[in-house]
Amino acid sequence: MDSNKNYFSALLKLFIKYEQLDSINKQNSLWLKEYFNLKSYINKKDTSKLPEIMILIHPKFLIDNQGECIKDHVNFNQKSNFNSDISKSNKCRYDLINPNNESCIFNKYADIRGKCEADHFWPHSLGGPSIAGNRIILCKYHNCSKSNSIVDVFWNVYPSWLNSYLEKILNQKR
Ligand SMILES: [Zn+2]
Repeated sequence: MDSNKNYFSALLKLFIKYEQLDSINKQNSLWLKEYFNLKSYINKKDTSKLPEIMILIHPKFLIDNQGECIKDHVNFNQKSNFNSDISKSNKCRYDLINPNNESCIFNKYADIRGKCEADHFWPHSLGGPSIAGNRIILCKYHNCSKSNSIVDVFWNVYPSWLNSYLEKILNQKR
């Protein structure tokens, strides 16, 4: 999909600029510049700039001006309650991640399907935090097939958690 392509090319461009800088301060300034360039789109929750906005939460950028990791400060890993409340009655939400909204065929056979698992809607490896808003419940079959991939439907809706999460990163960086 074009949005995935836009995302990865914007990510690569920023990585190249970032690596050319010789201090953490300059690297953080670059992040801040990118953030404020996108600020009006962020405020408007404009999905047309979502690929560019999503690169700002990449784990590579989760450092402060001292070079310290800020993952704990922004609650990047809240694993404790990410999976714990899922029971056998929870349905697989495959319908949310495929463009035709097909529902999971295993839902009718809960005994065969087994208990569902929590996955990150925006992949954890690309900066998706382990918070309720970024959680999708999938059966083990659909969880395997999603893995770390970005689903095309992701780009259709501006994530509800994104702006408050960006704000947390921003507050750690300045
Ligand atoms: Zn499923």
